Amino acid sequence: MPRRCTVCDHPERHSIDEALVSGAPYRSVAKRFGLSESAVYRHKTEHLPTHLLKAREVEEVAHADDLLEQVRHLQTHALDILERAEKVGDLRTALTAISQARGNLELLGKLAGQLDERPVVNLNVSTEWLELRTVIVGALEPHPAAHTAVVKALGGVGSSG
Ligand SMILES: [Zn+2]
Repeated sequence: MPRRCTVCDHPERHSIDEALVSGAPYRSVAKRFGLSESAVYRHKTEHLPTHLLKAREVEEVAHADDLLEQVRHLQTHALDILERAEKVGDLRTALTAISQARGNLELLGKLAGQLDERPVVNLNVSTEWLELRTVIVGALEPHPAAHTAVVKALGGVGSSG
């Protein structure tokens, strides 16, 4: 069980992170928020990068959601125009609306794909996989034939991505 981080638990964690990101020395940050220098230092080196990564992901998802919403809005408009144009027999406008709607659909598809790609885990860079691979290869060292065969097979896995 890892030790609790007094900075992560701090009610003003966001302000602390902001100060650290803006380049404030950890000593002065520690002083300002009444924290120990070692805690701020450890937080800065070990936890801050993860926080930043998460914040960026949240921002991107929010941004993508916003875009999705706007494209949906445009799509409703395009279909509405198409319906009205068809009613009055304005084929020119109808065609324009159809092409607009098609473009919106493509965009929606791309945005949806962008959102869906997020949870994909890449086996080649997964720490668990690298550890497992090391264990397997190490265990087979006394058995040269098996070792060679497995390394060759794993090499194929590693280079396929
Ligand atoms: Zn922390």
